[in-house]
Amino acid sequence: MPELRKDPVLGRWVIISTERSKRPEDFSTPSSPPEKECPFCLGKENMTPPEVFSIKGNQGNWRVRVVPAKKEFIKKEGELWKKGKGPYDLINGIGYHEIIIETPNHIANMADLDESHIHDTLLTYCLRIKDIAKDERMKYVLIFKNYGFTAGGGTVKHSRSQLIATPINLKRVKEELEGSKFYFDYHERCVFCDIINQELNNKERVVLDQDGFVVLVPFAPRFPFEIWILPKRHSPDYCKISEEELWGLSRVLKKVLFKMKTLLKDPHYNYVLHTAPFRRPYPGYWSTIEEDYHWHIEITPNLSRVAGFEWGTGFYICPVLPEEAAKFLREA
Ligand SMILES: [Zn+2]
Ligand SMILES: [Zn+2]
Ligand SMILES: [Zn+2]
Repeated sequence: MPELRKDPVLGRWVIISTERSKRPEDFSTPSSPPEKECPFCLGKENMTPPEVFSIKGNQGNWRVRVVPAKKEFIKKEGELWKKGKGPYDLINGIGYHEIIIETPNHIANMADLDESHIHDTLLTYCLRIKDIAKDERMKYVLIFKNYGFTAGGGTVKHSRSQLIATPINLKRVKEELEGSKFYFDYHERCVFCDIINQELNNKERVVLDQDGFVVLVPFAPRFPFEIWILPKRHSPDYCKISEEELWGLSRVLKKVLFKMKTLLKDPHYNYVLHTAPFRRPYPGYWSTIEEDYHWHIEITPNLSRVAGFEWGTGFYICPVLPEEAAKFLREA
């Protein structure tokens, strides 16, 4: 029997379709179109806009480099304005759109970077968020990765992530914040801490438990082999991560991405870092966020197409049982 499952944070229902349950080998990654000249390799710095940040290695060469996106969705210069026209609200496109180049070498998948480059990348996320926090106009910084052309990663196969900072809170993040607060108001506990405890007791959806992080396939995933990485230490802000935790996360992220690469034959994927928004300009509004929200990373391999039913209803059909997905990933 197919099962309907509800995500405890968002209250979103998904259908776990066991009838047409798929195995890892049922998914394939389409072959890539030809690659263009890579603007992200060492020595090609003049092909990108001037860097805004970098981490240098012993030889003076950069290890991680941040540049504004060439085709920025939003720009940081200018005065922020807001308008209303009847039912329509408008804000001009003020914000940051940056590319975080994770290695000077032409390596496509983050899974193939060494831990020290992953560490420097994760540290860069933190330092960029802290820097952008000084810009009073910004409310949120979203860090994400598009790997592979079907996941929006284009044809250049050079490992990188993106950062977008916005003067508004983003819908999906807002839903998560509201869901977490709702749960906290009722239970007086963090929903993510509760999820971690439940999953560690039961273990059937746990992929990894090491270095202070839990990796799991969520109870009600939208997509096959969707994976969450959660710090065991409760904290709403990614930027408050310790140096020891950064190294732990580097090891965990590499391991998970490598498992995914092995099991699903180098699938295209996205990940997002969900951290708390900047708490301004209404500090009172965020009264319980320190206790109710818990930062995390969500990874979704790009294995199935979202079709009309999902678009029309926001109700997803996941063709793999989460417990089986976790088992495959544990053993990969
Ligand atoms: Zn390159
Ligand atoms: Zn928590
Ligand atoms: Zn999330």
